[in-house]
Amino acid sequence: MSFTIHGIGVSGGIAIGRAHLLTHTQLEVEHYDIAEADVEQEKERFDHAILTARAELAALAEHIPENAPPEFEGFLNLHLMILGDSTLSETPKALIETQRCNAEWALTQQTEELLAQFDRMEDAYLRERKVDVMQVVERVLKALMGKPRTIPAPRHPEEDSILVAHDLSPADVILFKQHRFASFVTDLGGVTSHTAILARSLGIPSIVALHHARQLIHENELLIVDGTNGVVIVNPDANVLAEFHLRQEQWQLEREKLKRLKTTRAATLDGTRIELHANIELPEDVEQARANAAAGIGLFRSEFLFLNRDEFPGEDEQFEAYRRVATAMAPLPVTIRTLDLGADKTWKGATERFSPNPALGLRAIRLCLAEPRMFHAQLRAILRASHYGKLRILVPMLSTAHELNQTLHLLDEARRSLDADGIAYDREIPVGGMIEVPAAALSLATFTRRLDFLSIGTNDLIQYTLAIDRTDDSVAHLYDPLHPAVLELVAQVIRGGHKAGKPVAVCGEMAGDVRLTRLLLGLGLRQFSMHPAQLLSIKQQILRTDLGEATQIASRMLRSDDPERLLSLLERMNA
Ligand code: PEP
Ligand code: MG
Repeated sequence: MSFTIHGIGVSGGIAIGRAHLLTHTQLEVEHYDIAEADVEQEKERFDHAILTARAELAALAEHIPENAPPEFEGFLNLHLMILGDSTLSETPKALIETQRCNAEWALTQQTEELLAQFDRMEDAYLRERKVDVMQVVERVLKALMGKPRTIPAPRHPEEDSILVAHDLSPADVILFKQHRFASFVTDLGGVTSHTAILARSLGIPSIVALHHARQLIHENELLIVDGTNGVVIVNPDANVLAEFHLRQEQWQLEREKLKRLKTTRAATLDGTRIELHANIELPEDVEQARANAAAGIGLFRSEFLFLNRDEFPGEDEQFEAYRRVATAMAPLPVTIRTLDLGADKTWKGATERFSPNPALGLRAIRLCLAEPRMFHAQLRAILRASHYGKLRILVPMLSTAHELNQTLHLLDEARRSLDADGIAYDREIPVGGMIEVPAAALSLATFTRRLDFLSIGTNDLIQYTLAIDRTDDSVAHLYDPLHPAVLELVAQVIRGGHKAGKPVAVCGEMAGDVRLTRLLLGLGLRQFSMHPAQLLSIKQQILRTDLGEATQIASRMLRSDDPERLLSLLERMNA
């Protein structure tokens, strides 16, 4: 039977392929039969994993740091309680016996059942505890399997595979860079979640917030993913399939045509030059940035080097990664953002440090200042790499003068330690700050005084201004770049930065949204940084822009607080 599911399209284009389902739990689990004679042994293996998980939690409980928040102990107790519940610690053993399946599979089956029960709960607090169940199950699975999560390779590599998941973390999506999927769709997620951002950087059509896709879609079913309109068509009939094959060809043709703009300078109709930079997550992304003629790297999200691993990369490994990007882009500038771990980009210490509100917790520069040794290694690595190209340092999530002072102080320390070791680095390396917390936007002079450049992180600026969790699909409809408060803050930062003689870029998703290009130009923006796949479409829009008109309409938009009028002015601007 054919049917459609609607979600939020986060990366445009059309994919046609077979569904490949990912289980709820974070670990991809094998399923195999076991002989009757091995049932007891398999049950023992399961018991042993439960004991290991319990011992791990008990060890954590014994070493609670003095300054840990009171919730931390409660969180550990909750996990111990979940682990002790017979639905998790006993029922899977019954499944091993009746289904003669391996322990991992039995546990996964039971978890799916449990999670479905959670989904039906009316009480929001209890529903939320689903996450804890998943974390406990993962702990047991890890004990059973002894390895971290991997995203499985597409089962039918000869045809397009579409990954259907309940949720994916940024750490999962980064694994896609190894296995090519034609697209992915998820039940959860917001428009500017890092998962969505990665989908854009991979240039594959993707949809989030589909709610029940993983339940409704079966393995191997034929799917059409229309990432532009946020629609999944399951089991399309022949006519629909033919229509979408045609649309897919047209989309690809458009992309091909855009390539002609590669060597064209980005400038508005009156000849005003605009700088278009690329956002990257891993050193190998440089290739795509170059292929789309980026004028530099405006944002290297260095934290992605730190995901999916047990040990953090040391100074030397980081140095190699940064040097690789610096030399590949030289003489063009490369902006390395210092670690922005935390919130949805979890790090290995995250489970030990419970954060009730991770986006407002120990994230980005706050985490780096709390872990000065880790930060010192990164600063040294960046400085060392600066000798091989044109590097710039960008500090995320600054909100106070104190954080800025401490950061600059640690940078001086890193410089001094390199001097003592006789290692060369660029003494003039520019240091910039991300303006993505409203407090920073509203006290801009604190930052313009001591920094060389600014980059507006609109993804977080919107999240924090509107109090909307960017990863939460239930409030995704409220995430609005056109909210008057957001427009005012963006305009203020551009104006204030320029007035202080400091270059200002936007590196959030607004910079890669063609609908908003003219608005940003009208607000005075001259530097954009975005995922490379978007660069040429934005350039095309810039080439067709009358800057005078865009400026005039933008200032009218700043004076309006009526959402409908704002939309109609935007439409007029884009006509
Ligand atoms: C932003 O917040 O807009 C930004 C560019 O940083 P990130 O999306 O990595 O938080
Ligand atoms: Mg940010």
